[in-house]
Amino acid sequence: MPRKYKHLFFDLDHTLWDFEANSEETLIELYETFNLDQYFESFEDFHERYESHNLYLWSQYRKGKVDKKTLNFQRFHLPFCEVGFDDKAIAEQFASEYVRISPSKTKLFPNAIDVLEKLKPHYEMHIITNGFREVQAKKLENSGLRPYFSNIYISELIGVQKPHPYFFDYSIKSCNARKKESLVIGDSLEADIQGAIKAGIDQVFFNTKGLSHEKKITHEIDNLSELLDILL
Ligand SMILES: [Mg+2]
Repeated sequence: MPRKYKHLFFDLDHTLWDFEANSEETLIELYETFNLDQYFESFEDFHERYESHNLYLWSQYRKGKVDKKTLNFQRFHLPFCEVGFDDKAIAEQFASEYVRISPSKTKLFPNAIDVLEKLKPHYEMHIITNGFREVQAKKLENSGLRPYFSNIYISELIGVQKPHPYFFDYSIKSCNARKKESLVIGDSLEADIQGAIKAGIDQVFFNTKGLSHEKKITHEIDNLSELLDILL
């Protein structure tokens, strides 16, 4: 039977590259390097405070209320201030180390490489990611993902982010794919799934957190290995 799809468009962060694990690994290292245990009760104490500021600052960033630089600085400076460690220079240094080190981390979701290896002979595969060119390129190279993908589509270069339909239209067009032969695989209901639905492309929702929703999605998985059942 001929295969339905020819082109697979994978999201990167939280879909192939384990953003949370890589971020935590980086924060643990930096927590030690900067001797933060003299200020925080424990790494967990720091991590929780960081998470809450980070989440809030990202929501402000998406609304255009803070810029990227402020976001990166304040997510560390604010938790530092909470425990009486108000040192802007150190926070600045910590923030820039975080951005430098985390993309060099290499933790992927279970079975990622195995699945890509098995799909590679049968599909043309691409990355579609919201992010910055240098950072995303570093992640792909260091984690060994790069060889599996023909094209890397990055919002910074396209000029709009997923779920904007132009992001999908642009990516599809520039690799001469057809929407009917394309499949988007991602973890974000909004950016990946809703974006693909709006653009008229089939979707696989990688739902690792068991999120409940009422969307009509083509496929839903919680382990990448399930892609083999769908696609081979
Ligand atoms: Mg993602």
